[in-house]
Amino acid sequence: MQDTLKHRGMRNKLAEVLISKGITDTVVLNAIRAIPRHLFMDSSFEAHAYQDKAFPIGADQTISQPYTVAFQSQLLAVKPNQKILEIGTGSGYQTAVLLKLKAKVYSIERQLELFKKTNIFLKKLGYRPKKTIFGDGYKGLPEEAPFDGIIVTAGAPEVPKALMSQLKIGGRLVIPVGLDEQVMTLFIRKSSTEFEKKEFGSFRFVPLLEDKN
Ligand code: SAH
Repeated sequence: MQDTLKHRGMRNKLAEVLISKGITDTVVLNAIRAIPRHLFMDSSFEAHAYQDKAFPIGADQTISQPYTVAFQSQLLAVKPNQKILEIGTGSGYQTAVLLKLKAKVYSIERQLELFKKTNIFLKKLGYRPKKTIFGDGYKGLPEEAPFDGIIVTAGAPEVPKALMSQLKIGGRLVIPVGLDEQVMTLFIRKSSTEFEKKEFGSFRFVPLLEDKN
C-alpha cells in the first residue's frame, strides 16, 4: 500500500472533523495530517482509515480513534526532545504521533505478536522510537525514569503507582481510568509528593492488563 494525494486529502478532512470536535493544538493536528493512518491498519479497512473510528488490529486490540489520539496528545502537551513513555504500543500510530511531536519515545507493549509486528512496521516507515519494550507497562520503565510525560493508551482500572513515581516534577501523566468506561485523567506532578489532578470526558479503551508474576 502507498500514501497518495487522495489519502492526504482524507487526512485534511479528518483534521477538520477533529477541529469541529474541539481539538485546537495545531502541532497535533499537523501530525494527524502527516501520518498515513491507513498503513497502520489491515488493508481491508483502508477505505475507513480516515473516519474518526477505532478499528481492530489483531490480538483482540484496537487502533484508537483519531479523536482519542489527538485528545490525549493535546493533554500531554509534548515539547521537542522531551522524554515520553507510552504504555500500549498497539499499532504504533500513537507512537508515530509522539515522534512527529519530536518526542524521545519509549513504548511498552505486552502482546508479543503485536510488539514484533509493530516494531518491524515502524522501522519500515522510518519511525525511530528510542526504545520499544516487550513487557508490562504497569511497572513503567524505572531504568529510564524520570519522564516528562507518560501516556497510557489502554483503560486502567486504577492508576499504577509506578507511573506516578516515574514522572519528573512538572511532568504529565495522561491516563484513562475506569473499568467499562474510562474518565480521561491528567496528573501534573507539582512536587515529590503532590499531584494536580484534572478529569476530562469519558472514553472507551481495551483494558490495561497487569502481568501478575
Ligand atoms: N496506542 C495504540 C492503542 C492500542 S490498544 C494504538 O493506537 O494503536 C492498547 C494496547 O495496550 C494494546 O496493544 C494492548 O496489548 C496494550 N496493553 C494492555 N495492557 C498493557 C500493559 N500492562 N502493558 C503494556 N501494554 C499493554
